[in-house]
Amino acid sequence: MRLFAKRNAMNSAKSPPDGARPDGTLDRAAVFLSGLCLLHCLAVPFALLLGSFLGEWLINSETRVHWLLLGLALPISAVALWRGYLRHHSALTVALGCGGLLLMLLGVAHLFGESWEIPLTLVGVTALLFAHIRNMRSGHMHG
Ligand SMILES: [Zn+2]
Repeated sequence: MRLFAKRNAMNSAKSPPDGARPDGTLDRAAVFLSGLCLLHCLAVPFALLLGSFLGEWLINSETRVHWLLLGLALPISAVALWRGYLRHHSALTVALGCGGLLLMLLGVAHLFGESWEIPLTLVGVTALLFAHIRNMRSGHMHG
């Protein structure tokens, strides 16, 4: 058992991640995270309308959830968009992704006040979503 695990670990260490290979896993993860945030942001007004405990919980956890999502999205998007850029050389895709992340950061940091968190996050996440969709598509074209 132990020997087997060791051999597996050695095998995976021997094969370095191939950056040139079109790999949409990170893009898909980023799209999934962005979609999750969109759902979460859009659920807040509805939950508030219902006036339920859920609404209160969503509002109270809003900023924490967004920091968490941004913390996950930043490294994933940085790697996925950089790898994509090496493949498709589309500055627009990278700019769209960076702009989206920046808007998300401005929103969650409450730079313009807390009331701007959801609008900025919605715009930022949508931009990021499109950036990753573009990133995946251009990968398929050349791959
Ligand atoms: Zn959200």
